[in-house]
Amino acid sequence: MKKIKVLHMYADMLDLYGDSGNMEVIRYRCAKRGIECEVDTYSVDSEKPDFTSYDMIYIGGGADLEQQHISADLLKCREGIRAAYEGGTFLFLICGGYQLMGKYYRDADGNDIPGLELFDYYTVAPSSRRKRCIGNIVLRTEITGVPIEVVGFENHGGQTQGIKTPLGEVLYGNGNCSKSRYEGYFEKNVIATYMHGPCLSKNPELSDYMIGYCINRGADEMQELEPLDDTLEKECRKVMLDRLLTK
Ligand code: GLN
Repeated sequence: MKKIKVLHMYADMLDLYGDSGNMEVIRYRCAKRGIECEVDTYSVDSEKPDFTSYDMIYIGGGADLEQQHISADLLKCREGIRAAYEGGTFLFLICGGYQLMGKYYRDADGNDIPGLELFDYYTVAPSSRRKRCIGNIVLRTEITGVPIEVVGFENHGGQTQGIKTPLGEVLYGNGNCSKSRYEGYFEKNVIATYMHGPCLSKNPELSDYMIGYCINRGADEMQELEPLDDTLEKECRKVMLDRLLTK
């Protein structure tokens, strides 16, 4: 079976609320199926890899300060990441990483941190640091072809505007902006979301969407992923859905 190659960028700086755990989940769900999964790391001043050689690029979330720290280095990766994305590499982006693939992130002090402009959304934080979107969040998404509820935890000041293809509809929480109807950004090979948690431990369908994409990328014949026993994950999610959606 094919091997999946993942590049985890800035794991040492962008790792809010256990975001690196998403890589543990991807590794675990691949290993259970006998799929080899190699996760390389990249950080500020690392030698630039061939971004196009990866099936997935993953960037987690971070506070404004960390976003500023990695900004200059990230801009140097712009062409490589763009080439990878255009060649079909999957981009999985959480919160701060999500923001920095758009046009810019304007922080609470009014400083613009430039984005890679892969996508035409942009993010502005309110000047009051008290006005943040914090708490549990539930979305409904149909990216797998059937409606599923996805749970996570959001904590962002940034309000993201200009999204035409969101990841899902907000059933509980805020989403891209304070009290907005939609959350995240989605394309066939992009999942960008404000959901920390780490979000994959609670939402096995999202992991399998990405693993399935990576395995089948460029393949002549579509391979179905072997189903795993997700009883525990589903029970955990049900507890959250009952708590948050039942009035
Ligand atoms: N610093 C950004 C914001 O507050 C991103 C935060 C995050 O990654 N959780 O909007």
